[in-house]
Amino acid sequence: MSDLQLSLLKCLNCGEVLPPGESLIFFFCPQCHSGMHLSGGKLEGVRTEFYELVAEATGTDKALPFWAFDVEIRISYRDAAGTAGSFFKALAATIREDPTEEFLRSGGRIEFFVPAFSLDLEKAKNLGKQMTLGKPSLATAQIQSFEPIALTCEDAKALGEYIFLSSEIELPDTARNISYTFNAENPVMKIIRFRKKT
Ligand SMILES: [Zn+2]
Repeated sequence: MSDLQLSLLKCLNCGEVLPPGESLIFFFCPQCHSGMHLSGGKLEGVRTEFYELVAEATGTDKALPFWAFDVEIRISYRDAAGTAGSFFKALAATIREDPTEEFLRSGGRIEFFVPAFSLDLEKAKNLGKQMTLGKPSLATAQIQSFEPIALTCEDAKALGEYIFLSSEIELPDTARNISYTFNAENPVMKIIRFRKKT
């Protein structure tokens, strides 16, 4: 006897049979446009939103998937010459104009973007950091196709933490020791179209 169970995955929202995607990571209902993923072996809904980047056009003309999280970062200890230029400080600045030391220690909540498509680590880190710090203006858009989703929600949380931590320790003030918590919650799949330069 095999424990293997084969069953058709059906949309949690409308009951449509979900087409086998390019991966078993994320499913998108062609009928009602709901997004779902497998979490602990169960199909679970994921808020999925479609946008176009309202900014200078970049070199690509693709719709790219990102996992976006509400992230709370608390740094309890950071052994370095100073926090000037800290990635975290820059993050804090996106939610408050004049972040003080006290505020930095109390933590803050920011929207953190993690590329969900296949991308090498260094590029994923740079793009995630750029999107998170840049707080891009997004306008809702109609998008038919997008790059396949290659990263699970859990892996995206881990990559987000890596982006934060590696950015902190690469700073010129060379933090030797850092004590922090990184909590990522409320995952949303954001499909974002980047326009090509004309
Ligand atoms: Zn559906």
